[in-house]
Amino acid sequence: MKIFNTLTRSKEEFKPINKDIINMYVCGPTVYDLFHIGNARTFIFFDCVRRYLEYKGYSVNFIQNFTDIDDKIINKSLQENKTIYEISDKYIEEYYIDSDSLNIKRATQNPRATDYLNEIIELISELMDNRFAYEIDGNVYFSIREFRSYGKLFGQDLNTLKSGSRIKINENKKDALDFILWKKNKGEEPGYNSPWGVGRPGWHTECCSMIYKYFDGNTIDIHGGGMDLIFPHHENEIAQIEALGNKKLANYWMHCSFLNMNNEKMSKSLGNFLTVREVLNVYNPNVIRFFLLSVHYRNNISFSNLHMESAKKSLARIKKSYVNLINIKSCNNADSDNYLDEIKKYYAKFINKMEDDFNTSDAISVIFEFIKYINRFANSFNRLEVMESIKIFKNFFDIFGLEYGDNNVDCKNLEDDIKDMVIQRLEFKQKRQFDKSDLIRSELEKKGYILEDIKGGTRILDTNDNNLIYTVLL
Ligand SMILES: [Zn+2]
Repeated sequence: MKIFNTLTRSKEEFKPINKDIINMYVCGPTVYDLFHIGNARTFIFFDCVRRYLEYKGYSVNFIQNFTDIDDKIINKSLQENKTIYEISDKYIEEYYIDSDSLNIKRATQNPRATDYLNEIIELISELMDNRFAYEIDGNVYFSIREFRSYGKLFGQDLNTLKSGSRIKINENKKDALDFILWKKNKGEEPGYNSPWGVGRPGWHTECCSMIYKYFDGNTIDIHGGGMDLIFPHHENEIAQIEALGNKKLANYWMHCSFLNMNNEKMSKSLGNFLTVREVLNVYNPNVIRFFLLSVHYRNNISFSNLHMESAKKSLARIKKSYVNLINIKSCNNADSDNYLDEIKKYYAKFINKMEDDFNTSDAISVIFEFIKYINRFANSFNRLEVMESIKIFKNFFDIFGLEYGDNNVDCKNLEDDIKDMVIQRLEFKQKRQFDKSDLIRSELEKKGYILEDIKGGTRILDTNDNNLIYTVLL
């Protein structure tokens, strides 16, 4: 498997540190508002990376933090006359609601910055002891001139970086690029005690304290985030951890590109954003995931209704083909595996695309090539060939995190009204209206159909011979 490593600016063969476990850290949200669809791109992409690693048999230790102390949180708490914890607790809950809706697997752990204040203070003290940090009037800064390889992730040398930055008038630091580790309290702001007075940690130091603590000072396999985090956030994480002569922070740095709206990067600060919740009001989560994964993660993606509609159509084509496949009735048991080799080739091709730096876009193209193939030949497949074809779809759905919640199943082998009843019954069951769902079940039984529930749907069997007639997916 190859991964494009931002640090070396090249695709490298992925060599995990441990045989079975991958340690992975992805920078999480600052919890002061609902997250937008641009953030969702990053979260969904790394969810797909995790799912693919799990598909390969690794157990993934996936850590994603919540930044729960920050200027934006403080401002919101002052505006709403609430404590910062009331704000962050609320938006952590909201984060889970939206990310669960998007079928993003929950992280192994979501550390919160304010739970790591001791570790943060320890790290800053150690940096000061080793002269990588200095204090001026209650503020502590990292001194970038002390860390020789500063700029290596961003790929710029110090002089180039310096020429683009100036010390702001109200800042009292030695070098324009020096970044804040501990910020002195102003006025009414919430703060924490430290050897440098009351204040709070800087964002860059939160993440690396959590990584350092959580992974016990060991190098992690993959560190990820949005492309806008390369500089200065991740550069500054590297500086703090590696300055102390510690091990490398991470072996592979992966960054997901932007989501544009009207040719501009979608961001809160530009005000051109749509929250995930707004998009979920219009589109099924499968469509959102499919759309966001349909472009290679290192390319920008532009969000528009037109693109969403076209993603919706493409996904419907895939699903229709899958439903036809699982409902093939003439599943013969012929020994001659005329099509098996070709089917396996499509499978290998799909996996090869994923192995090549998670090329989800090309992997989807392979699925469409495969659909053309099965549309032509599937009716002649034997049982083994049908099963092998289903496996391709199933793995594609699992890796991309697509779940079937649509009920536009094209049931050509079953009368529409029976199909509708089965769907209706599933909906009643979902709403826990079991009396209604049981009623439909017994009505269908009278008509000669037995229902057997499976994950995400129902199988319809013939009362006479117990043979499978059709599968409905909800
Ligand atoms: Zn971070």
